[in-house]
Amino acid sequence: MILSIESSCDDSSIAITRIDDKKLLFHKKISQDAEHAKYGGVVPELAARLHAVTLPKILEETQVYFSELKAIAVTNEPGLSVTLVEGVSMAKALSVALGLPLLGINHLKGHICSLFIEDETRFPMDVLLVSGGHTQLLHVKSLEHIELLASTMDDSFGESFDKVGKMLGLAYPAGAVIESYAKRGDAKRFDFTIPLQGTSSSLLAFSYSGLKNQVRLCIEAQENMDEQTLCDICASFQRVAVAHLMQKIKKAYKERKVEHFGVVGGASANLYLRDALESFCASKKALLHTAKMEFCSDNAAMIGRCGVEAYKKGAFVRLEDLKVRSSSKDMFYT
Ligand code: ATP
Ligand code: FE
Repeated sequence: MILSIESSCDDSSIAITRIDDKKLLFHKKISQDAEHAKYGGVVPELAARLHAVTLPKILEETQVYFSELKAIAVTNEPGLSVTLVEGVSMAKALSVALGLPLLGINHLKGHICSLFIEDETRFPMDVLLVSGGHTQLLHVKSLEHIELLASTMDDSFGESFDKVGKMLGLAYPAGAVIESYAKRGDAKRFDFTIPLQGTSSSLLAFSYSGLKNQVRLCIEAQENMDEQTLCDICASFQRVAVAHLMQKIKKAYKERKVEHFGVVGGASANLYLRDALESFCASKKALLHTAKMEFCSDNAAMIGRCGVEAYKKGAFVRLEDLKVRSSSKDMFYT
């Protein structure tokens, strides 16, 4: 079995995954959303202090598995350095105390592995990663060979939901709240422009800061923000945010084949986005792969699943070599 730890942002999570059949034997996550909501976003120092309290509490519940563990897997990049350190320090202490090898796991590869929890991996696969920090279109040949087809030039998809939510006075994180207001709204009432429409045909990238500013101007122009207007703004924003993603994805696959398409990351829980991707996949005769709702946002189950693959490859890292990195840009793509 592998014990995995996730603390890259504001979720403290630990899982136990059986190596042979990938069964998830234990999984617990304690979210800090309510604490950070008071400040309108994640406060790194507060997140680190909360991890220091919650991770040991969850760890206590896993003691029955200690004698059967073969390795400790921990997210060491990318993420907030001060919060990553909490998980990595716990992993190192466990490694010494129990005499177990360490596996450093890339959080984004972890999100990819959320598609394969209690299942076999399936590569090659094209993957859209839509999270709080990333918006990336990837061609994943294997976990070691990942090609970046497109990424955002500014804000990420999930971040734009959070920022629009903040402007509307909604609680952080706002993605799911905006989706639920959007269900009751008229998506055509506000005619926001789809980003990057007039850019050169060779540019394959995403951009969300312009759309966010359009929504800001729209909010400022409202004399009376009644509930219906709030719903209409959410629906109109979500329609254009997803239309932008889909426009670029269709462009990417105009001449490119795709058979298996996965969507991962916190914002992949959005059903309006999933519907749009279903239609795209149907038009390409491709299969859409999604993670279970509970595994879309950060969790240690996906880190454990990635850990099983790293374990099978013998990708162990020495105690002194396991370092935290806030970004993984330089070594992730080949
Ligand atoms: P990264 O994985 O890039 O380091 P992260 O771990 O902070 O970033 P996740 O936990 O994967 O991000 O995802 C959180 C993001 O997903 C938040 O921005 C949140 O608003 C967004 N999100 C969650 N649910 C939805 C939804 N239903 N619709 C849109 N966005 C959503
Ligand atoms: Fe994440």
